[in-house]
Amino acid sequence: MIRNLSIKKKITIWFSLSMIFIVGIMMGLIFAISQSVFSTDIQTQLVNQVNTNAEEIEYLNSLELKEEYETGDHFLEFENGYLEIDDDFCHYVNGIYTCLVDSENNLIYGESPIRLTRDQVFTHLKVEPLKYQGESYYIFERPLQGDNLDGLWVRGVASRREGTHLLSSIMRYATWLLPALALFSVLMGYLITRRSFAPAEQIIAAAESITGGNDLSRRITLPDGRNEFNTLADSYNRMFDRLEASFQREKQFTSDVSHELRTPASVILTQCEFSLEMDQTPEEYREALEVIQQQGLKMKDLISQLLFISRLEQGREPLQIAACNLSSLVTEICAEQSQISDRGMTLLQNIQPGLIAPADPRLFSRVVTNLISNAYKYGRPGGHITVSLAEADGLVRLQICDDGIGIAAEHLPKIFDRFYQVDAARTSDDSAEAGAGLGLAMVREITELHGGQVRAESTPGEGSTFTVTIPAHL
Ligand code: ADP
Repeated sequence: MIRNLSIKKKITIWFSLSMIFIVGIMMGLIFAISQSVFSTDIQTQLVNQVNTNAEEIEYLNSLELKEEYETGDHFLEFENGYLEIDDDFCHYVNGIYTCLVDSENNLIYGESPIRLTRDQVFTHLKVEPLKYQGESYYIFERPLQGDNLDGLWVRGVASRREGTHLLSSIMRYATWLLPALALFSVLMGYLITRRSFAPAEQIIAAAESITGGNDLSRRITLPDGRNEFNTLADSYNRMFDRLEASFQREKQFTSDVSHELRTPASVILTQCEFSLEMDQTPEEYREALEVIQQQGLKMKDLISQLLFISRLEQGREPLQIAACNLSSLVTEICAEQSQISDRGMTLLQNIQPGLIAPADPRLFSRVVTNLISNAYKYGRPGGHITVSLAEADGLVRLQICDDGIGIAAEHLPKIFDRFYQVDAARTSDDSAEAGAGLGLAMVREITELHGGQVRAESTPGEGSTFTVTIPAHL
């Protein structure tokens, strides 16, 4: 159940629960601490008040009374003389009542919220709790000391409600302030979470609209930043880049294949229609069949080349790497190719003898054959082709150099793409040499499978150089 909740809700719930927990603990602590602080505080105040007030009382005989009479103090008749109570004596302050009582609990002076019976005696000099008419009080008494003051007590009474009054107002504030703060922080937490997760929703929406609407050119745009969501959006965008490029390639590939197959198919159909329409001489039939055969072979070649490349790409064409004598492999292919060609070109060889390197001879010979046959195809009639093979710095370098038509700079980066032809008219469609622009794609695929790379340099009108490098050792 909780697993189905969104991260946003989970964070908010956890945040709220911890806030409620913290607020609960805080309120408990505040209550416990303040209760103990206030009760200690009121008891201390009570003792101090009683002690101070006890200092303000003095016994005077009649003679002394005359001398003191001018002051603002209070005088009470007591025994054979008088009690002088200084005007600093406080009856009531901060919820504490102070009074003067005799040993029979009669109130002589001051104020007291409680009336005690004659026989109610308290542990003197100790603060004690007392319940009076349903109210809770603290009581503290101390005897007066001095001549003629025996039997007199200063009594302090503090209402416990006064103490808890402040406490309860603190609690009252705490009970709404703390939950309000908790609510506020939960709300802020929710807003912050919502804000922080907004990019996630943008990413989801963008990703859905891209996949749902099949529009791979769309990208996720987030406000500038360096947080996790920007990184996520970047990797999504990179993924969409790659997907778009690969879809584009696939689309291009399909249209190129269809295009390449359409021409021979239409030639075959035209030949058939023409031959079926009217009677022809056996020679004419033969000629038509030859055209059909040529186009059929072309289609077969194209299909098998495509199959071969796609098998290579999918890793279904197992690579049988073995120590292979590349010197003799290249020399043999050179001999083969020079025999096939009839354009009066000279093939020069600069081959390091006995060069052995790890390679799949079946596949690598396709690389060499393709590059040399291209040099013958696009070389200058009567010109030169140089084939070099050498090992240097742990790499085997095969170089095929011609002095033919060359390739313009804008085409160079694309010639290794499948079906890319600089100018299809450079080799006539009907010639046996006509290719479909797949040769160099295959060269690159095989070279890369060998852990190497292929490079082309060319100057239009002067010639081209193709360089293949593969590791000389495993
Ligand atoms: P194709 O079947 O057309 O020869 P490739 O993949 O072998 O296909 O070559 C792709 C294109 O690169 C060719 O159409 C050609 O225009 C150009 N090319 C390849 N090799 C050479 C070369 N040695 N000199 C000039 N152009 C070349």
